[in-house]
Amino acid sequence: ELAIRMAEKGSDLVKALFKMGMPVTLTQTIDQDTAELLVTEFGHNINRVSDSDVDIINDEDVDAPETLKARPPVVAVMGHVDHGKTSLLDALRGANVQSGEAGGITQHIGAYQVKTKGGDTITFLDTPGHEAFTEMRARGAMVTDIIILVVAADDGIMPQTIEAINHARSANVPMIVAINKCDKDGANPQRIRERLLEHEVVVEKMGGEVQDVEISALKKTGLDDLLEKLALQAELMELSANPDRSAEAIVVEAKLDKGRGAVATLLIKRGTLRTGDVLVVGEESGKVRALINDKGQQIKEATPSMPVEVLGLGGVPKAGDVLTVVENEARAREVAAYRKEQAKLKRTTQAPVTVDNMFSSLAANRAKEFAVVIKADVQGSVEAIINALNKISTDEIKVRVLQSGVGAITESDVTLANATKAPIIGFNVRPNAKAREIAQREKTRFKYFDVIYHLTEDVAKEMAGILGPEI
Ligand code: GDP
Repeated sequence: ELAIRMAEKGSDLVKALFKMGMPVTLTQTIDQDTAELLVTEFGHNINRVSDSDVDIINDEDVDAPETLKARPPVVAVMGHVDHGKTSLLDALRGANVQSGEAGGITQHIGAYQVKTKGGDTITFLDTPGHEAFTEMRARGAMVTDIIILVVAADDGIMPQTIEAINHARSANVPMIVAINKCDKDGANPQRIRERLLEHEVVVEKMGGEVQDVEISALKKTGLDDLLEKLALQAELMELSANPDRSAEAIVVEAKLDKGRGAVATLLIKRGTLRTGDVLVVGEESGKVRALINDKGQQIKEATPSMPVEVLGLGGVPKAGDVLTVVENEARAREVAAYRKEQAKLKRTTQAPVTVDNMFSSLAANRAKEFAVVIKADVQGSVEAIINALNKISTDEIKVRVLQSGVGAITESDVTLANATKAPIIGFNVRPNAKAREIAQREKTRFKYFDVIYHLTEDVAKEMAGILGPEI
């Protein structure tokens, strides 16, 4: 690889390394210092593609506080199937058209923006459901600032409602509860509020801090109230980004369009994206040929939290991929090639989650937690396991159940576990085919038991390992 980049013979490089006292083979990986030495030895210039080019959401590259400006919140809608997520997204999209401006009709590009009566702008992710959210999160690309939990007033708390609560909790994203279908006979919003208590979601009307609002997506009532509450929540969060820098964005949707080529919808994380910008997105490079907003209009630039379709990519990226603007096309190609290489390497050498690297990620938290996903054959076992695990929790380390339920281990369990690098405990159950497939790829950790005592013993041992020996 290095020889190709230097346009030298591979065997010459190996020979040089031998002379330097490093007996290596042609395909062996060498460290960065050696590579640099070798490059100089052959009279070439070193052009280091740094790690920060790969992990573009680069935590070290923080914008100075004075460069930050307020940005709109990015909101995702979650909840049980048929509780009205799509209807709500449609109704909110319509709420925007009231201005009656030409070209005001929103297109489906994966995300759209709405202006509230108070003049605030809010960005909505246009794809309801949990999978996209966990998938993106698993890839480290958090775009969601606030989650709207939709609960149908005539139905109540259902499995996916609980799943959504778990997602919000494990991702540390605040929720606003939208009690939907309040127009229906038999709708009982108060019962929803009470039921939510059982899942430790305490809404304002019950003396808690989670905002709730009664709506009807069908009759379009309560929507202004919902928008206002979202704006309020966003204000509390003081969301901001630096608009005056080269852009970084996250892909929310991408496709190959017959007429337009590779098209991706992005959400700008920070900076401003302009036509003509040279970019890398995932493992693809390209140049911004056109930017199209959620109203289908061509625009010249896109600012933080703005959804925009970009044309001019070399290939179709994946949802969750990070887009970065770079200085020139040579650089773009180089970074893209480097990322491709890294991705390949990662696929073949990714270390499974071990107690060690779990420790390092947990060490950051002051109150240590041992996160798990639990699946069992019957509800009684689920409860017994949670109780038993709570009993072995101590002041130093607590078991945190990200999700629990009855039945085979599913795709959603695996995605959630991976996002947090938590193990999945199967009690008398195993993963289904799809879950197995993802788990294999992502090196998910499973623990199977058929005796609760063995389960608690194992978890206790692992938690002790995380805490390390007493000093
Ligand atoms: P999703 O699966 O959560 O996206 O739910 P949908 O938005 O597809 O809605 C499921 C069904 O509930 C549809 O038949 C909607 O017309 C209906 N629905 C959604 N919101 C309301 C509402 O506020 N009131 C009533 N009466 N029906 C609603």
